[in-house]
Amino acid sequence: MIQLYQPLNFMGMVYREIKQAIIDIEKMFGVLHREAEIKDAPDARPLAVTAGTVRFEDVRFAYEPTRPILKGISFEVPAGKTVAIVGPSGAGKSTISRLLFRLYDVSGGKILIDGQDIRAVTQDSLRASIGMVPQDTVLFNDTIRYNIRYGRWDASDAEVEEAARLAQIDHFIRMAPKGYETQVGERGLKLSGGEKQRVAIARTVLKAPPILVLDEATSALDTHTEHEIQGALDRVARNRTSLVIAHRLSTIVGADEIIVLDQGRIAERGTHANLLAQGGLYASMWNRQREAEAAREKLAQMADSS
Ligand code: ADP
Ligand code: MG
Repeated sequence: MIQLYQPLNFMGMVYREIKQAIIDIEKMFGVLHREAEIKDAPDARPLAVTAGTVRFEDVRFAYEPTRPILKGISFEVPAGKTVAIVGPSGAGKSTISRLLFRLYDVSGGKILIDGQDIRAVTQDSLRASIGMVPQDTVLFNDTIRYNIRYGRWDASDAEVEEAARLAQIDHFIRMAPKGYETQVGERGLKLSGGEKQRVAIARTVLKAPPILVLDEATSALDTHTEHEIQGALDRVARNRTSLVIAHRLSTIVGADEIIVLDQGRIAERGTHANLLAQGGLYASMWNRQREAEAAREKLAQMADSS
């Protein structure tokens, strides 16, 4: 009885772990629930990344049929360039990153990588080519080393630690009871939003993929830490095709193109200087953030001198 029970129990454990991993991946990308399962086409080929050009052609999308979220989005991220997407919350920015990762299929139009429709390639090869730092990172109930190595399984311990250093999380890890072998999660070490973001950045630094997607990757960090990490992110982004969804506009002033998304449509596009000169939505967002920053600095000065 015991002999029969134990393998079954073990199978149950494996099943629960697999199920948990699926839930983790869905949570990792802020996906609430998926109605339609995405399947590989019967004749799906592996994605062949040559230059790494990403193209959205008249992309339309709705989570629920009656409520369109993206209403015809077209843009290109040329190989090695950086395109930033900004806009009010709820505009559809994260949805664009989820569609590129093919967590959902488009309802109209298409997404191409080096001319290949992402629906025609295997999901494994697509996701292996894209490094994604999502808005809210969910960590696995495993060691912190496992959580970083998730970016690239064959990375050495030294490479894992170097990535952690670049993401400014190495010091924090070394302070933990068992260092890199410390368990994270419900019954282990609890990490703040900013610490989780740094783990996700370390994963991506380690993966060093040809295509990079950052969805408000530094939004939970204070401006000082953000500034420190920005260097590591800029290094990963150099010569890689990057789609950067930005929360703080100061982090994307150097983007090759900035797209302002509003209610599922492209409202404005251009370089930072172009957009400021237009005096539209981007310019008002920029001025608002500048004023908020100035106010914060003044408060900090007052606190220092008192
Ligand atoms: P942003 O990243 O610009 O803040 P999102 O792309 O996350 O916006 O969301 C765009 C819109 O889609 C929002 O109105 C949001 O409520 C809705 N939405 C996001 N995810 C889902 C989902 N899984 N099911 C239904 N609606 C969703
Ligand atoms: Mg978002």
